Amino acid sequence: MKILVINAGSSSLKYQFIDMDNMDVIAKGLCERIGIDGRLKHTPAGKDTVIIEKAMPDHTAAIGMVIDALTDKDHGVISGMDEISAVGHRVVHGGELFSESVVIDEGVKKSIEECIELAPLHNPANLTGILACENVIPHAKQVAVFDTAFHQTMPSEAYLYALPYEYYTKHKIRRYGFHGTSHKYVTGRAAELLGKPVEELKLITLHLGNGSSLAAVNGGKSVDTSMGFTPLAGLVMGTRSGDIDPAIVSYVAEKENLSVKEVSDVLNKKSGVLGVSGVSSDFRDLAEQAETNDRAKLSLDMFSYSLKKFIGQYIAVMNGVDALVFTAGIGENNVELRSQIAKELSFFGLSIDEEKNKVRGKDMDISTPDAKVKTLVIPTNEELMIALDTKRLVENL
Ligand code: AMP
Repeated sequence: MKILVINAGSSSLKYQFIDMDNMDVIAKGLCERIGIDGRLKHTPAGKDTVIIEKAMPDHTAAIGMVIDALTDKDHGVISGMDEISAVGHRVVHGGELFSESVVIDEGVKKSIEECIELAPLHNPANLTGILACENVIPHAKQVAVFDTAFHQTMPSEAYLYALPYEYYTKHKIRRYGFHGTSHKYVTGRAAELLGKPVEELKLITLHLGNGSSLAAVNGGKSVDTSMGFTPLAGLVMGTRSGDIDPAIVSYVAEKENLSVKEVSDVLNKKSGVLGVSGVSSDFRDLAEQAETNDRAKLSLDMFSYSLKKFIGQYIAVMNGVDALVFTAGIGENNVELRSQIAKELSFFGLSIDEEKNKVRGKDMDISTPDAKVKTLVIPTNEELMIALDTKRLVENL
């Protein structure tokens, strides 16, 4: 079975085409500048990237070009589009309506539309991608995989904010959490790596990238996560503030003569390690400058301090932890951060082998043999998780 995984944005669309018999990515690519002019970057496995510039007035045209690229006689990987068995779509927000991936039907599309008010930038694009695939590949079953679904198992004391209760019932204001597909994927892999059923494990999964979140996963279920009603909450991030005193919003609006929307933009795009350092949102740049630039160093210290505090909270939430799982750009690559966190949390029983800690890009237990709490590095693979869910759901139709 071959599955096409689609991640549609407002003017871009990423895809991976995966052979589920061996989990190989047969081709992947990116449509950019949809509705502006149009460019497709297509990479068949083991071959050079082909760039095709052609008008892409909308997502249907973009999907049409993806199919053309996949079936092209020179750089294609299949002989006809009937080889595409199913399509898995990343959908950012499923609200409280979806706690699992689902086969898409009219009702599901309507529900995704209902969640637009919760993710006004993402859900419309995700829905457009679904409609485009229905147009272009009508024979293929489609599945929606939600970023929020994995966290729907959180108990109410974890997901509610201490606001007037009717804000929850009337306006759906609560913690949803994001990066769920990644947290779910690394949870499954961690259980495999540790050789234990996931039901018996207490894990803290650390998705540390440009946007960062961590989750307390008890017995395979997310019981708390650091992102909230939106992805702005929680850890200090590349450009996002993470948790701040909410009173700062009105105070800054007054002092800087900004609207609430403008303050929100500052918190999302000009804060985090970028805002503190004034240098960059990229941790590699910051690490390079940390020795000579105090604010670059301070921003990194603030990031690791916020991470340490959340890990401590989640150990308390679960009354223990068996393993920490590092993933995403920073989690997978930042050797120094992993080393620092393990040292500073040695009280809890973390201990890592510095040789093993040099690993990049592969699944690895980097703990010392006597570590009470294991430390794992697991590269995330959201596309594979989407494809696996898609296969599971369409197989029995
Ligand atoms: P992601 O959002 O998962 O793609 O992660 C992006 C972030 O990962 C970048 O902004 C970098 O800060 C970080 N990153 C990627 N590679 C490295 C590396 N080799 N060392 C440290 N940080 C890295």
